[in-house]
Amino acid sequence: MLKVAVYSLTSCQGCLMNIVMALGSAVERLAKLVDVEYFKLVKEIYSDEEIVPVNIAFIEGAAVCEKDVKKLKAIRDNCRILVALGTCASTGGVGYYGSRRAKDFKEPKIVRYIEGEPLSSIVYVDYELRGCPVTFSEFMETLSKLIKGIIPRPIDYHVCMECKEKGIPCLLDRGIPCLGPITMGGCGAPCPSIGIPCYGCRGPALETDFDNYVNMLREKGISLQRIIESIEVFMGRKAREWREKYGNIY
Ligand code: SF4
Ligand code: SF4
Ligand code: SF4
Repeated sequence: MLKVAVYSLTSCQGCLMNIVMALGSAVERLAKLVDVEYFKLVKEIYSDEEIVPVNIAFIEGAAVCEKDVKKLKAIRDNCRILVALGTCASTGGVGYYGSRRAKDFKEPKIVRYIEGEPLSSIVYVDYELRGCPVTFSEFMETLSKLIKGIIPRPIDYHVCMECKEKGIPCLLDRGIPCLGPITMGGCGAPCPSIGIPCYGCRGPALETDFDNYVNMLREKGISLQRIIESIEVFMGRKAREWREKYGNIY
């Protein structure tokens, strides 16, 4: 059986908790599929610092300090397939947002923070499983494919596509800022379904035409400032790019 490990870097552990809470009696089902060598909060037979050789490693969280970077590289050296678990690991996400602000803390400087970039900016990542948090079903679906030797294809559509398929009236038409056009789909658009705008928790879509998005907002009379503020939280490195381009013009 394939050996699997699930680790955390700096994170809120929300992805892990979401999976662990849903695991429940499915722990036995998981144990029939793979040898779980390390699974934070489920099977911690090694110290948090110890990295075990496995076939598949999942990593939650962003690398926001040198300790994280060292651990990430050690995990990469000890696995065949590496999966970024969640939006923080995939895009920097909240980890990126938080680390940018943590750098501004005056005292105490116990840890030297770096910007929480995507894991893929430091090591090779085989697959990015988005979500804040990742859902149990997507985690199991990904694991099942990997067990069969299949690396899942990245989701190549936006939240808007799922929203339109469900026939949900567009919030932008009511002047409500929504990040659906620039956010990776796969969630089924639960937020717009209940009248809440997409906040981009799955991070940027594979292909985003931000210029076009900005023009569309302007046509609908939506403040660019509100959008620039909202992209900061989940869009990681992309937010920096977009802010640098548009941040000075509102
Ligand atoms: S992706 Fe969201 S839930 Fe997962 S670790 Fe990051 S902030 Fe927490
Ligand atoms: S409500 Fe949001 S996600 Fe839905 S179509 Fe409009 S912009 Fe896209
Ligand atoms: S609609 Fe947007 S904010 Fe809501 S779950 Fe999907 S990606 Fe996240």
